[in-house]
Amino acid sequence: MRFDVLTLFPEMIQQACSHSMIARALENNVIEINTINPRDYTLDKHKKVDDTPYGGGAGMVLMCQPYFDAYDSVEKDDNTEVILLSPQGETFSQNMAAELARKEHIILLCGHYEGFDERIKEYTKAREVSIGDFVLTGGELPALCLIDSISRNIEGFLGKIDSAKKDSFSDGLLEHPQYTKPREYRGMKVPEVLFSGNHALIDEWRRKQQFLITQKKRPDLIAKFKKNCDNNRDLKLLNEVLFSKTK
Ligand code: SAM
Repeated sequence: MRFDVLTLFPEMIQQACSHSMIARALENNVIEINTINPRDYTLDKHKKVDDTPYGGGAGMVLMCQPYFDAYDSVEKDDNTEVILLSPQGETFSQNMAAELARKEHIILLCGHYEGFDERIKEYTKAREVSIGDFVLTGGELPALCLIDSISRNIEGFLGKIDSAKKDSFSDGLLEHPQYTKPREYRGMKVPEVLFSGNHALIDEWRRKQQFLITQKKRPDLIAKFKKNCDNNRDLKLLNEVLFSKTK
């Protein structure tokens, strides 16, 4: 997977990607991340990339020329997905991360200041993606969120690809609680069932915990899950959880 990030602040991307698992994935060639700075493509002698908005108003708008040319400099093919980070876009999700992980090449366009001249969206035919209903200074943090989350879903990124499949939201539910050593800490005990050695029992307990936690924290997800679920075991366990007072 190759990510090409168009950004006026390439150091933000490079810095953030030089740590932890993303850095390891770069080293192992599981992913590749390039940054392209539209400022390097401006034909303006003062290296200007933005200007005041037509019609008046505060702030500066990113100009077509440097962005068109920076975008044109990136090689593309049929498997390239172009994403423009914008608070107005469709909201990013775990499903979208899994879907995008099947691409081979993603171009991420990061805005700044007041955002893009509308014609940049038209020219690139980009899919607009938001990371939530709030406004950030620039598209770099959203781009990093996408890179991180998409990469987790790429074969070879995590030790066991299974761990991404079991992450929260992967099957529409939140993950079950996790525990590690010690067995007891300050009087707080790890649930007995996890030491039973009975994998079927552990599996059932974890599934029920997923239902309980999701019902408590995100009842909207449970409603959706129930509506779409055609797995009898899941429906049985879910009903047991919903109609029982015990945890
Ligand atoms: N004036 C724009 C508006 O109200 O829709 C907001 C511009 S914002 C200050 C600057 C840039 O940050 C945007 O062009 C976009 O690339 C990025 N950005 C800000 N919030 C974002 C979000 N929630 N999701 C994705 N990108 C975001």
